[in-house]
Amino acid sequence: MGPEELQDFTGDVMENATSVAEEILKKQMTQQLVSALEVCARCGICAESCHYYASEPEMKHIPATRGEALRRVYRALFDPIGRIFPKWVGASKLTEEELNVWVEMAFARCTLCERCTLNCPMGVDTAAMMQTVRKILTATGKAPEILVQLVDAAIERGKNPELYREFFLEQVAELEKELQEMTGDPKAHIPVEKVGAKIMCVPLSGTHTILPAAHIMHKAGMDWTLSLFEAANYGVFLGDITRAKEVAQRIVDEAKRLAVKDIVIVECGHAYTALRWEAPKWFGGPFPFRIRSCIEMIDELIATKRIEVDPSANSEPITYHDSCNLARKGGLLEEPRRILASVAQDFREMVPNRHENYCCGGGAGLVAVEEWRDIRLKAGRMKADQIRATGARIVATSCDNCRLQITDLAEHYSLDVKVMSLAELVVRALVKKERDAPLPLMTQEDKAHISPMQKG
Ligand code: SF4
Ligand code: SF4
Repeated sequence: MGPEELQDFTGDVMENATSVAEEILKKQMTQQLVSALEVCARCGICAESCHYYASEPEMKHIPATRGEALRRVYRALFDPIGRIFPKWVGASKLTEEELNVWVEMAFARCTLCERCTLNCPMGVDTAAMMQTVRKILTATGKAPEILVQLVDAAIERGKNPELYREFFLEQVAELEKELQEMTGDPKAHIPVEKVGAKIMCVPLSGTHTILPAAHIMHKAGMDWTLSLFEAANYGVFLGDITRAKEVAQRIVDEAKRLAVKDIVIVECGHAYTALRWEAPKWFGGPFPFRIRSCIEMIDELIATKRIEVDPSANSEPITYHDSCNLARKGGLLEEPRRILASVAQDFREMVPNRHENYCCGGGAGLVAVEEWRDIRLKAGRMKADQIRATGARIVATSCDNCRLQITDLAEHYSLDVKVMSLAELVVRALVKKERDAPLPLMTQEDKAHISPMQKG
C-alpha cells in the first residue's frame, strides 16, 4: 500500500473499521509477512525468548499466540477452506471487538524487539506481524493518542521551523554557557545551521542528550553543527510509513541544505535504526551523507586518540544494557564494549547480552504511554533480575527509551543503580588537561579497532 492510500484509509476511519482493516491487510501481503503467517510449527520455543513470557509465563505472552491472532483473520480472508469452514482451520472474521483487543496486544504487549524471531527455528517474524497490526490500528484510529500526537507535533515542527527557531537558538545559547562551564573553555560553542560542517548531530529533546555529545565533540575539536530537529521518529512505532518518512524528511533536508558529510544521531535506538536502515528504503536509495550513531563516533575518537580518557574516573561496577534497536537490529555490538573498556574500571556483562539481550520492556513507544506503565514494569522483571545479578551500581545504555524504562525498573524493583548514557560516562572520564599537540593521524593499528560498519 502506498502512503497516499494509507492516508485515504485514515480518512475513512470511523465508517467501518473492520473492512478498512481487512483491506489494509490484503495490501500488506509481502513475502515477509506471508512467510510469518504460514510457517509457524507451533513448537513453542519462542516462549522463553520473549521478555513478557519470561517475566510473566502466561499463554497470551507467547509470541506464537500473538501471531495466531492475525493468522485467524488471514485464514478467513485468504484460505479457501477458511472461508467456507472457518472452524476447521481456526479462521475467524475480524470484528470491532477483536480490533480493540489488538490494541493492547500490539502496542502494549509486544515491543517489536525481534528476540523471538532470532530464536525461532523457522525464523517467524512476530514483530513484522505486530507491526502490521499496529499499521491497521493506526489507520483505523485506534493507536494510542499520545504516539499520534508526538509524531504529528514533530511533523508540524518540520513544516514551520521559523516558528520556533528563535526560541531554539535562545535555548542553545543557555546550553552553551553550561558547556563552557563543563569544559572550562569560555570559547566552547554549539554551532547551529553551520553550512559545510562535517557532522550534523541530531539530538533528542532534553539537554542530557546534547551536552555530553557537545562536550566530546568540542574536546575532539570536531567540525560540527546541531540539528534544528530531534531524532525521535514515532511514525515507526505507529507502523505509519507516510508519517515516519515526513519526520525523517526534516533531517534529510537539513543535512542536504547544510551539505554535511555525516549525520550523527545521539544515543537513541529506534531513531538510529529508522534513519540508517529504514529511511533509505522510504526514500528510494542511499543518502549523499553517512548516518552513524554517536557511539560509533565516540568509539572512533577513542581508538584514534582524538580524545583521551581515564578509566579510573568510573571506578564503580558498571553493566551495559544493549538496546534491541542498536544491537539486535543495528549491529552495534562491540562499539559500546570497546568504549566501556576504555572509560570504566569494572565492567560486568549481563547474561545474556549483545544480540541475545532481553528487551528492557519499554521499547517501541511503550514508555510514552502512561496508562500502560504497569504492563511495562511487569514485563521488565527479567531485565531487573539481569541487572541485579551483575552487582553493578551503574547501568549504561545507549538509548533514551531504555534509560527511562530502566530508571523506572530500578525504583520499582529496588535496584540500587544509577542509569547513565555512554556519552555521560565518557565525559566523566575525559582527561582534563588541554590538548597541546596536533591530533595524531590514524594508524593501521587504530583502523583495526574500527568496525566494518564505521569503515563503510
Ligand atoms: S513462532 Fe517459531 S518458535 Fe514460536 S511456535 Fe512458531 S515456529 Fe515455534
Ligand atoms: S518481538 Fe519481542 S516483545 Fe514481541 S513477541 Fe517477539 S520477543 Fe516478545
